[in-house]
Amino acid sequence: MAKMTFGLTARHIGVIEAELKRFGNREIDAKYVKYIWEKLGKELKWEPFTLALYYFEHLERQEFEDQTREAIDMGGGCSRCGDVSGFECICEQ
Ligand SMILES: [Zn+2]
Repeated sequence: MAKMTFGLTARHIGVIEAELKRFGNREIDAKYVKYIWEKLGKELKWEPFTLALYYFEHLERQEFEDQTREAIDMGGGCSRCGDVSGFECICEQ
């Protein structure tokens, strides 16, 4: 089953990120361009504002997960297998 993020599937996120990459450049962050969300909304058959909102929530959650992972690794644990203590890592076997 596809990984869900508040109703967004991995396919949705893939389509969104491809589009943002296509339109974005050093000056323009495409995720803040209203037209992009209108275009994506049509393509994915979503209400554009809802789509943007869900994607921003996905980004926030991603960032939180990245920070959590970083904190586990810095504390001597292993974020790959979720071993917080650092004594039960199963990745090396
Ligand atoms: Zn591990």
